Amino acid sequence: MTAAGVPAVAFEGVTRRFGDVLAVDDVSFSIADGEFFSMLGPSGSGKTTCLRLVAGFEQPGSGHIRIHGVNVEGVPPYRRDVNTVFQDYALFPHMTVGGNIEYGLMIRKVPAAERRRRAEEMLALVKLDGLYARKPGQLSGGQRQRVALARALINQPRVLLLDEPLGALDLKLREAMQAELKAIQRQVGITFVYVTHDQGEALSMSDRLAVFNRGRIEQIGSPAEVYDHPATPFVAGFVGQTNLLEGYLAQRLGGFPATYAVRPERIRIVAPDADVPSGFASIDGKVASVTYLGANSRVEVDADGGMLAVVEQNVDGGASVAGRVPGAVVRLVVDRRHIQAVSASR
Ligand code: ATP
Repeated sequence: MTAAGVPAVAFEGVTRRFGDVLAVDDVSFSIADGEFFSMLGPSGSGKTTCLRLVAGFEQPGSGHIRIHGVNVEGVPPYRRDVNTVFQDYALFPHMTVGGNIEYGLMIRKVPAAERRRRAEEMLALVKLDGLYARKPGQLSGGQRQRVALARALINQPRVLLLDEPLGALDLKLREAMQAELKAIQRQVGITFVYVTHDQGEALSMSDRLAVFNRGRIEQIGSPAEVYDHPATPFVAGFVGQTNLLEGYLAQRLGGFPATYAVRPERIRIVAPDADVPSGFASIDGKVASVTYLGANSRVEVDADGGMLAVVEQNVDGGASVAGRVPGAVVRLVVDRRHIQAVSASR
């Protein structure tokens, strides 16, 4: 068998308990070599523990973890072909940027000239050319994060573990760094395993993501699969916004007494007497509220049997659009392909 088919990381029935807390509950998944894989979930759902299990900072209570096909039971962190980038950067404040980046090579006794050459290469990769001699205290948060990334990448690990690495940055910088991280990952071709509770971040960067809830994985898939076909009500609500339809509304729009999820931007508001295109479901209601959100407006509609949220792009100036005023009678139409049946969590 060639190495190409061997996953970079594989969990097989892994469980990790801390006293009474089941932090990771019988989790199995695998990450392909070269993949940008995110672990997404709310606080306490077990993502960081999974990352620490890969790094070797935690041991599973039961189950197995393989890194590139090798069972890593009993293998200490420094012998695993992985590096971790932490949210707080963990840079050495007394060392220069160059010294921080070269640290791993120094430990491995790589000659000074070679260290310097590779550190300069890394500085170029993370767009910090010319900052070799600075101290971490003289850098911005975003620059420190780049140093931490360079310091991990210079060791050429086969798997890079990133624990909320952009969590301390402001929104604008975070968005810019997301695009850059993804570009760097493509350039170096290393497997990235990325922990975040930010669904936008996971959707924008990942090849695939795993959605964690209470120590379990509820769904694994590409961003579009997870967003368009959420497997459970939890995934539908955590990844983006959703309308969960139950009871009469479910029967009416979905056709069966099941639970369905419909994204607010997939529902269209039309005139109360408008024709319903074939393949679409419809329901009539009254506008309850309109919230102006800049690029979009969120319209809550009191439909027969419950509230439905609709998000409309403000192409014509938004809240001023005719008919979007509280009390207005409207018809909602939605393509049946966007009404997703979801099943209860395990
Ligand atoms: P966050 O986004 O807040 O970091 P997380 O999804 O990464 O959350 P974990 O840090 O993996 O979650 O924690 C999962 C559960 O295990 C939590 O209930 C947490 O309190 C518990 N836990 C984690 N580490 C320990 C520990 N060393 N001792 C005791 N309990 C722990």
